[in-house]
Amino acid sequence: MTKTAESVWGNCLTFIEDNISSQAYKTWFEPIKAVKLNDNALSIQVPSKFFYEWLEEHYVKLLKVSLTRELGTKAKLVYIIKMENTYGNKQPFTEKIPSANRSQMRDQEVSVPLKHKSPELKNPFVIPGIRNVKIESQLNPNYSFENFLEGDSNRLARSAGYAVANKPGGTSFNPLLIFGGVGLGKTHLGHAIGVEIKEKYPEKTVLYISAEKFTQQYIESVKKNNRNDFIHFYQIIDVLIVDDIQLLSGKAGTQDVFFHIFNHLHQNGKQVILTSDKAPVDMMDIEQRLLSRFKWGLSAELNHPDYDTRIAIIKNKLYRDGVEMPEDIIEFLANNIKTNIRELEGAIISLIAHSSFNRKEITIDLAKKIVDNYVKHTKREVSIDYIQKVVSEYFQMDVDTLQSKTRKRHIVQARQLAMFFAKKFTKASLASIGSQIGQRDHATVLHACKTVDNLSSTDKQFRKYVDDLNKKLTL
Ligand code: ADP
Ligand code: MG
Repeated sequence: MTKTAESVWGNCLTFIEDNISSQAYKTWFEPIKAVKLNDNALSIQVPSKFFYEWLEEHYVKLLKVSLTRELGTKAKLVYIIKMENTYGNKQPFTEKIPSANRSQMRDQEVSVPLKHKSPELKNPFVIPGIRNVKIESQLNPNYSFENFLEGDSNRLARSAGYAVANKPGGTSFNPLLIFGGVGLGKTHLGHAIGVEIKEKYPEKTVLYISAEKFTQQYIESVKKNNRNDFIHFYQIIDVLIVDDIQLLSGKAGTQDVFFHIFNHLHQNGKQVILTSDKAPVDMMDIEQRLLSRFKWGLSAELNHPDYDTRIAIIKNKLYRDGVEMPEDIIEFLANNIKTNIRELEGAIISLIAHSSFNRKEITIDLAKKIVDNYVKHTKREVSIDYIQKVVSEYFQMDVDTLQSKTRKRHIVQARQLAMFFAKKFTKASLASIGSQIGQRDHATVLHACKTVDNLSSTDKQFRKYVDDLNKKLTL
């Protein structure tokens, strides 16, 4: 079989995926495209200069090993950085940079300087001395890094945010786009970056604004016929933090004005931090040229916090509020509110309030009532029936097939997965699980659970089934 760029890169990816966390793989390797294979040189396209730097800094060894496996010791890697001209009216251009393995790369003549100096933009409208006008940063000092607890779910975003705070405008994280679901800490992290910058660089003008307020201001400026003043106000900011930019969807005028402000700030080495409840690819009705700007720097996701992080967040909150709560109640809360830190905090506050108003002790019963109020709308009863339904749907079979006596491998596997999740998510006994999933006995269920455990640590495809189903069942 002849090797192609895709086939070689595909094999490298399989190797790389086995050697790093899935989060890292998703962040740094999935966006790469293999473009060309010339003898021993594989060209890959990366989304930004930052990407290239990060890969070189963190994964160069892994890349080298994987590429050598495919192409031998003479293997070369060529990066192609996709960038677009800042003015948006010229063709995108490409840069090729040799990999860090420079000794082997000497004959590679495609390297071009990375810096494209854009001419300094003199803005005729900025009144001299306007920098002396104090701009209130609108930051909430309670949202700091110190009380933004770290966990697997937020490590990338948090550390990128911290890097930005140390060197605003001076890293490749520009813009830094923080995205993730409701109540996972986007606003908190956005403020924390701003607060930290204010502390380290008091002379810098930092501004936090929600996209909603930005839109209102813009509309107001159009009405009052001072759109230019509006733009110029934003152009003198050193660090601009815009929260919930998904709200710019469908608002062409606001997007257009934001595009110009963004370009101006970016060209002048100012830092832009954005948050969104969606990944850039999922943002609807946002103009392409603006979306592509969002991808220039780093998009970092905030995921659902894991159990330990939830416990830590609860304890930290209680500590700050000077409240004590029994350990079993803390665990109960962490076990029952999983997908939204704001809900978790809400439940704690409500629990404290109830107990102090009614002079009652904080008990598990009270906690249960409150949690029901908080997660009623999102919580779905996980029953064995429901599990069978979800598993069957996932494998595109019906529940009868899943329960049937057949020994066909994919059906057996589906059945075993259903048993495994029934054990995991319900309190039912092995015997009762067996009788509900196709009249099997408890030994069969036990065997199923062991098989799933084994397969998910040895078989990657199977592992994916387990993870996918887990997600579906815990939504
Ligand atoms: P979002 O903007 O993503 O909807 P917020 O930033 O408003 O979420 O966060 C919701 C609540 O959860 C806030 O009170 C915030 O302080 C808290 N929170 C989120 N993440 C963390 C964390 N890692 N550590 C401590 N508190 C957090
Ligand atoms: Mg928010």
